[in-house]
Amino acid sequence: MLLFRTPQKLNRKPITDNRETENREPKTKNRKLRTEKMNTFDIIIIGGGAAGFFAAINAAEMNPGAKIIILERGKEVLTKVRISGGGRCNVTHAEFIPNELVKNYPRGEKELRGPFHSFMTGDTIAWFEERGIELKIEEDGRMFPVSDSSETIINCFLQETSRLGIKVLQNHSVQQLIKENNNWKISTNQGDFSAEKILVATGSNPKIWKLLEKLGHNIESAVPSLFTFNIKDKRIQDLPGVATNAEIKVMLDFKSGGSKKLESQGPLLITHWGMSGPGILKLSAWGARELNSVNYKFRIRVNWLPGYTAEDILEELLELKLTHAKQQIFKYTQFELPKRLWRNLVLAAGIGENEIWADLNKHRLKGLSEQLCKAIFEVNGKSTFKEEFVTAGGVVLKEVNFKTFESKLHKNLYFAGEVLNIDAITGGFNFQNAWTGGFIAAKAMNSPNAAP
Ligand SMILES: Cc1cc2nc3c(=O)[nH]c(=O)nc-3n(C[C@H](O)[C@H](O)[C@H](O)COP(=O)(O)OP(=O)(O)OC[C@H]3O[C@@H](n4cnc5c(N)ncnc54)[C@H](O)[C@@H]3O)c2cc1C
Repeated sequence: MLLFRTPQKLNRKPITDNRETENREPKTKNRKLRTEKMNTFDIIIIGGGAAGFFAAINAAEMNPGAKIIILERGKEVLTKVRISGGGRCNVTHAEFIPNELVKNYPRGEKELRGPFHSFMTGDTIAWFEERGIELKIEEDGRMFPVSDSSETIINCFLQETSRLGIKVLQNHSVQQLIKENNNWKISTNQGDFSAEKILVATGSNPKIWKLLEKLGHNIESAVPSLFTFNIKDKRIQDLPGVATNAEIKVMLDFKSGGSKKLESQGPLLITHWGMSGPGILKLSAWGARELNSVNYKFRIRVNWLPGYTAEDILEELLELKLTHAKQQIFKYTQFELPKRLWRNLVLAAGIGENEIWADLNKHRLKGLSEQLCKAIFEVNGKSTFKEEFVTAGGVVLKEVNFKTFESKLHKNLYFAGEVLNIDAITGGFNFQNAWTGGFIAAKAMNSPNAAP
C-alpha cells in the first residue's frame, strides 16, 4: 500500500457552522431590499454533490471576493459521496497518463483528453493533501482516503465551504432557469436567485435535463451503467464468493458493429444472483446502451483460462490423458482453477465423478476444453452493484466547450459531473470526472473572458 503523506497543513480558520454559511451582506432594516440583495450572486452552483462542491470551493479560492451559493434540492448535501465506495469513497484512480486515463470512460473518452491535461489524478491527490487528507492506493489502483471513510471527504468539503464563505442552501429545488439580459434567473421552491454565471452540477436528474432541453440543449437518454449480470446456471449456482480471472465476451449481433468493445478480461466474481467483479462491470459500462436495448437478455462467452484457446487446452488435456491416465478427473483440479469451479465444469462436460483421464476419447476431451474456454451463459436481467453505480446519458457532449465546460449554446452556463453524457467504469474514475469538470469550470467562471 502506498501512502501519500500530508505536507504541512494549511493555516485555515476554525469552523463553527458548516451547514449553512451566513451571507456576508451587511444587515439592513428593509427586509425586501435585503432579500433581493441576498439572492443575487456572482456564481450559483446548482447541485450540492461532488462536482458542485468541488467547483464552488475552487471558484471561491481563486476569487475570494466572489459571492457564491450552492443550491441543493435534498435535505442533505453530498449524499452520493457518503455512500460511495461502500462508505470509503474511492476518490480517484492511480493512473497518471491522460491518454490512458481516458480509456476508462465509455462516454467522454475523447472529450476528457484535453481537460485531463489541465487537472487529473496527481492534481486531485495534491488538492486533498493540501487540505490534510492523505490518499492511499490499493493493489488494483483505486485510491481512498487513509481513514477509509467518506466522512473525511465530506468534512473537508463542508469545512472549506464554511471557511470560504460559500452559502449552502439545502431543500432548494431548482425548477426554472431563465436567461434575463446578462443574468441567469433561477427559480426554486423557496424563491428566486440570480447570478451572472451558473454551473449545473445536478448529476443524473431528469427534471434538470428537461429544463436544459427547454434552453435548446439535447440530452442523451439515460440508461444504467455499472451493474452485475443475473445468471441462473448449474455451473455457478453453488459457488457464490468464488473469484477468478476470466475473458468475457458479450454475444450480441449488432450489424452496426456496436458490440466491438464488448469483450473484457479481469476478475470475475460469482455471486448469489450471477456474475460480478471488474470483468463484468466493465462490460456493463461499455455495453450500457446495447444491453439496455436487448432488455438485459443476452448471452456471454466465458473463457476461464485467459490467454488460452480451446485448442490449446485440448492439447493439454490430451497430454494429461497420456501422463495421468489413471487419475480421477473430478477430484484433481487442473490449471489452477478454483476447485469447486473445476468440478462444476467437469460435470457440465458430462464427465462422471469417478471417471479417469483414460476413459475420455478426444470428443469428450474437446467437450471439456469448451467448458473451460468457451462456456456460454444466458444472462437474464441485471442487479445493482452496491459499491458504485452511475447513469449513462446527459447533456450531449458536442454542445459543450471542454476547454471551459461552458455551454456552446449559452454564455455563462457551465456543466460538471454526471449531468453531462460522461461516465466511467468502476474504480474512482467517475469522481475524477466530477473533480476535473468542477475545477476547470471554476477557473473559467473566474476568468474575465467568461463574461459576454
Ligand atoms: C452507491 C454509489 C457509489 C459510488 N461510488 C463511487 C466511488 O467510490 N467512486 C467514484 O468515482 N464514483 C462513485 N460513484 C459515482 C459518483 O458518485 C458520481 O459519479 C458522482 O457523485 C457524480 O457527481 P455529481 O456532482 O455530478 O452528481 P451527484 O453527486 O449526483 O450530485 C448532484 C446533486 O444535485 C442535486 N440536485 C439534483 N437536482 C437538483 C435540483 N433540481 N435542484 C437542486 N439540486 C439538485 C442532487 O440532489 C445531488 O445532491 C458512486 C455512485 C453510487 C450511486
